[in-house]
Amino acid sequence: MSTAFRWVAQARAGRARAGHLHTAHGIVPTPTFMPVGTVGTVKAMTMDAVRSTGAGIVLGNTYHLMLRPGAERVRAQGGLHRFMDWPGPILTDSGGFQVMSLGALRKLDQDGVTFNSHIDGSKHRLTPERSTDIQNALDATITMCFDECPALPAPTETIAQSMRLSMRWAARCREAFVPRPGYAQYGIIQGGTEPELRAESVRALTDIGFEGYAIGGLAVGEGQALMFATLDSTVPLIPQDRPRYLMGVGTPDDLLGAVERGVDMFDCVMPTRAGRTARAYTERGTLNLRNARHADDLRPISPHCDCLACSRHSRAYLHHLFRANEMLGPMLLTWHNIAYYQRLMRGIRAAIVEGTLDAHGSWLRAQWAMDDWTPDEMPPPDIPPVP
Ligand SMILES: [Zn+2]
Repeated sequence: MSTAFRWVAQARAGRARAGHLHTAHGIVPTPTFMPVGTVGTVKAMTMDAVRSTGAGIVLGNTYHLMLRPGAERVRAQGGLHRFMDWPGPILTDSGGFQVMSLGALRKLDQDGVTFNSHIDGSKHRLTPERSTDIQNALDATITMCFDECPALPAPTETIAQSMRLSMRWAARCREAFVPRPGYAQYGIIQGGTEPELRAESVRALTDIGFEGYAIGGLAVGEGQALMFATLDSTVPLIPQDRPRYLMGVGTPDDLLGAVERGVDMFDCVMPTRAGRTARAYTERGTLNLRNARHADDLRPISPHCDCLACSRHSRAYLHHLFRANEMLGPMLLTWHNIAYYQRLMRGIRAAIVEGTLDAHGSWLRAQWAMDDWTPDEMPPPDIPPVP
């Protein structure tokens, strides 16, 4: 069996694709949602819990891990897979998005970015070469290019200059990348919501040549309609045989719409962040478990979920945990939300394979628009659940 990194198509439905990502650390069915493990942990979850949801690949972050515990320390301890107990594939963000978000704490030049740590104010520098070296030290399965991403809205000329700088950096990232069987580096398409700039960016990156392509600089306040329009014009330009990754997206509805436009991979902090703030994702939209109406509700969060929160606990108990600020609340609800995102992606994937994506998409959208399950549709159990 070859361990070459590749994406193999299985089925198509319009522009949507189902396939498998073959990597040095295992095979991941796509479309896939990657839980965010910024600092070497998917917040509030054990890696066994992450695995139990069916997640196949997780994210790590260059910026956070270089500051703490330090890339060389992770390398000395056997790499990020060993360090965090995730033998499966790991994609690492390049740190570009985080350092650009530091505002006054960072200084950008043509060669890279100098910035002060948000932890202790110490001075650091990231360049395309340094970011790539760090991701190599972490043993990232998928290394991302170091790029610059302006906040939108911005003047077209600002977006164009920023994109062209990112493309020059992408060439330097490619030079610094150490090719290994089953490992990959993705180029990041920039250009805001301007179709011509996005097309120019795709040409620049495909001239360099990467194992996969990411669409960056979206979900930064432009709205879903503009994001989808940008995907409509950009995704068809990406080589068909390469995986496409939409960075930092999004809501369940965003994921469905992006899959329909040909995207294979996603990451977003929404399900984990919501899990810490009492917001539950369900087939019927979101619930706020702090709401008093859940105080005596013995039903699970969702009748379709087999996560620990839904199989062993009631909404009433989750409500109590959040009201009492108990850490088990965020733990159980993060688990539930990641389980929901994985179930959502499995359903979409199965529909692409079975040729029923249109019907499945309509059903998902109709369900999201409905109110919470009534007691008639989802009666409380006769006996409260006993562990
Ligand atoms: Zn659940």
